[in-house]
Amino acid sequence: MQYFTQLFFFLAEAAMVGLFIISLFQLRNKFGIATLYISLGVFQHMQTSLASFLYFELFPGVMVSPGSAVLFTAGLFAILLVYIEEGIEESRNLVYGLIFANITLSLFTLLIGIHPTGLPAAEMVEMSNAILVYQPRILFIGTLVLAFDVFLVILTYEYLGRYVQNLFIRIYASMAFVLILDSILFISLAFYDNPQYLTLLNSSLVGKLLMAALYSLMLYGYLSHKISLSLNRTDPDPEGESNISDTLSFLTYRQKYEQLRETSLRDPLTGLYNRGYLNECLPKEIAKAIRTQRPLAVLMVDIDHFKQVNDQFGHQEGDRILQFVAQVIAQSARDMDIACRFGGEEFTIILPDTDKISASVFAHRLQSNLFDSYQEVIDKLACEVTLTIGVCLVPSEAINMSEALRCADKRLYMGKVAGRNRVVVEDLEDGSETELDT
Ligand code: GH3
Ligand code: MG
Ligand code: MG
Repeated sequence: MQYFTQLFFFLAEAAMVGLFIISLFQLRNKFGIATLYISLGVFQHMQTSLASFLYFELFPGVMVSPGSAVLFTAGLFAILLVYIEEGIEESRNLVYGLIFANITLSLFTLLIGIHPTGLPAAEMVEMSNAILVYQPRILFIGTLVLAFDVFLVILTYEYLGRYVQNLFIRIYASMAFVLILDSILFISLAFYDNPQYLTLLNSSLVGKLLMAALYSLMLYGYLSHKISLSLNRTDPDPEGESNISDTLSFLTYRQKYEQLRETSLRDPLTGLYNRGYLNECLPKEIAKAIRTQRPLAVLMVDIDHFKQVNDQFGHQEGDRILQFVAQVIAQSARDMDIACRFGGEEFTIILPDTDKISASVFAHRLQSNLFDSYQEVIDKLACEVTLTIGVCLVPSEAINMSEALRCADKRLYMGKVAGRNRVVVEDLEDGSETELDT
């Protein structure tokens, strides 16, 4: 019965602290996030003090301090909450704040402890002077372990995201993993010489893992409540944009970043990579080709007489044809190839590890794939288009991005002059075609 009451108090304390953290976090738009951070800083201090003298028997032989079980675990819970909702930048601020405050406090306590004269604390209040020597050490070790914990909990949470679908399990498993390592590290560093080492370790584990279960449940409840709210929203949302952005806010910073980056690199009309991505990746691919001495082909592809298509069938139909051509390009390319919309009705395709003959084969196949694909389109397109393609080889014909694009573009232009719907892999002399036979 007595144990049950102890457990009840522990859970009630954790529930209160957890709710307080969530509420302050929710109110951050009103009061600023500093309110939460200052509270967490105060918790940190209280945690160390409590852990140095106050323990309750939670189960027979298991002595748990509310400092470490309730307050320390709450810190980890808050960091996960801030990380999931606000991203790595914000959680890093919190972590640095906690670490610097702890270091300063450790040094301060250490200095007070060695003042040359002064009324011994024991004579003023019934407090042992040892606490001023003992506490800085614990604080200092605690700070080191805290830094380790915080980064580890974020990394573990990210890592588990790939394998664990269930959000509660993902949160609890990350917290539990870190708390187990934390307890082993902290107790080993701080109390290695204590005869009750094993009891301390056991107690630390039981207390923290129990409280972590409650905190994980609260975090899970908070996050999934937010998700269900956003999914059930009934406001007019024809594009589904707000749902997407709400669901995004539930994803972690890295996932959000990757999604945004992915969108920012794509051309919205065709879904191929955009010019920005080309500028970023072509120099890298060229450098790699030169380093590894593997040839790389750069193709400039232009739709023939596209202006006429627009003039005759309208811009919308023109867009549909552009999308169709882009789709054929994407389907014709290998996974390692990079297909970009250069602009307008021009595309650039990077073919790593490809020599001139293979590049020519690819370009011709692209033309014939386009021709064949017309037969398979369900919503018939207004007209068929052809492609003219200029090919340049790196490093034999160009050694940087501007040279490669200029060379491919020049050959594309030569193909246009020579009559369009063709592949040009070498400079043409006197307007005659020296197209590589495939
Ligand atoms: P050529 O065979 O010499 O390439 O002739 P062309 O008409 O294709 O060449 P030009 O570069 O003069 O015209 C390209 C046209 O592509 C002009 C523009 O109206 C059209 N275009 C560019 N971007 C888009 C787009 O996003 N959608 C549509 N529908 N048309 C576009
Ligand atoms: Mg054109
Ligand atoms: Mg053009």
